[in-house]
Amino acid sequence: MKIINRADKNLIKKINTNSILKTIRERGPISRADISKIVALNPATVSSNVSDLLDKKIIREVGIGESSGGRKPILLELNSSENYIIGVDMGIKKVTTALVDINGNVINKVILQFSEEKDFDSIGETLKESIYKVVEGYDDNFQKTIGIGMGIHGLVESENGISIYAPAFNWHDINIVDIFQKEFNKTVIIENDTRAMALGEKWFGATKDSKNFILLNIGTGIGAGIYLNGDLYKGNNFGAGEIGHVSMTNEKIKCKCGKYGCFESIASGEGIVNRFESKIKSGRKSSILNKMDISNISSLDIYKEALNGDQLSIEILKETGRYIGTGISMVVNILNPDSIILAGGVSRAREFIYEEIQKTVFEKSMNHNLNNIYIGETSLKQDAGIIGAATLVIRDLFSI
Ligand SMILES: [Zn+2]
Repeated sequence: MKIINRADKNLIKKINTNSILKTIRERGPISRADISKIVALNPATVSSNVSDLLDKKIIREVGIGESSGGRKPILLELNSSENYIIGVDMGIKKVTTALVDINGNVINKVILQFSEEKDFDSIGETLKESIYKVVEGYDDNFQKTIGIGMGIHGLVESENGISIYAPAFNWHDINIVDIFQKEFNKTVIIENDTRAMALGEKWFGATKDSKNFILLNIGTGIGAGIYLNGDLYKGNNFGAGEIGHVSMTNEKIKCKCGKYGCFESIASGEGIVNRFESKIKSGRKSSILNKMDISNISSLDIYKEALNGDQLSIEILKETGRYIGTGISMVVNILNPDSIILAGGVSRAREFIYEEIQKTVFEKSMNHNLNNIYIGETSLKQDAGIIGAATLVIRDLFSI
C-alpha cells in the first residue's frame, strides 16, 4: 500500500481546490452537486473545499438554483465585490492603469503620459501616481485589492520581479516588484506587457478555448505573446516573442534595438510615419499637408486621412498590412498556432490592413499550417493591456 504523506495530501488538496475554483469561474453560478459531477470528486470533498473558499471570500453563495426534486441547491460564484485587482499597462509614451474586479470588469481607469525624462525614477513616479489616482474615491475597493499586476515593456524576469531591459528607456535590472510592494503593501506581479495581454486574452478574451495562439501587439512597438500547450512561452532568457526585431527589409533603417531593417522599424506607428515622410520627400502629394506640418504627423493622423480617401495614406497602410502579414506568416510556419490575435493601436486601422494581412498570410505560409487558423482582433479592445496585467494577479489567486 502506498503511504500518502503530508506533502502529497497538500498537493492533492491544492489540485482539488484549483479544479473546483476553475469550474466555478467557468460555469458559475453553479451548485455544489454540479461541481461534484464535473470535477469527479465526492460531495464531502467539494463541500470542505468550498467552505475554505467561502471563508477566504474568494467565492460567494448566491440565489437558489433549479431543483430536480427535493431541496433547491444554493449556487456559488466568484465573489466580485470582495476581490479587486489593479492592472497597470506600461506603454512607451503613457501608462494606463485600471481597477478591475475578479471577473475582468473595469471599474475605473486612468491614463497618464510620461514626461520627457525616461530614467526609472521619473517613469516609476508616474506609475505610482497612476495607481494612487485610479483608487481615488475607491477606498473600500483598494482595501479589498488582492494585488497589482503590471505589464512592462521589454524583457521581464517575472519570477524575480525584475525588468531586465527596457529598450525604449534604456534601463537595466530594476526590481520593480520590490519597489511597488514597499509602496503599496500589496502583492505585485510583473510580466512583459504583450505576454500579459496574451494571458488576459486566454482568460477573458477571444482565445478562451485555444491551446496554441499568438497575440501580436502592434503599436509604438511590435511584440508577440506566445501561448503554447496551455501556458505562456517565455524562452531561454525571457526574450521569446521579440518578433518586432526579425529582419524585414534590406533598407538601412535603424531600429531601437540597434540593428537595421527590423519589422518594428517599418510597421510600428513610428515606422508608418517614417515611410509616409520619405514618400512625401520623394515628391508624393497628400491632403494631410493642407492640415498640418510634416513634422507633426502621427500614425493616427495618417489613418484618419486614409478614411478621408487620401491615396498616399491608404497605400502606406495597405503596405503596413503586407508587412504584418509577412510577420504573421513566420510564426504560422514556425509554431503552427490555432489563432493569431491582433492588438495595439496600429491593428485598429482594420479597414486598410486586414485584407492585406489575410492575403499575405495565405500567400506566404505553408498550406498545411493554414488549416482552421483564426486571424482576428482582440475582443478586449483598448483594455487588452490592463485586463492582461490584472490577469497576472487573478491567475495567481487561482493557483492557491
Ligand atoms: Zn529591432
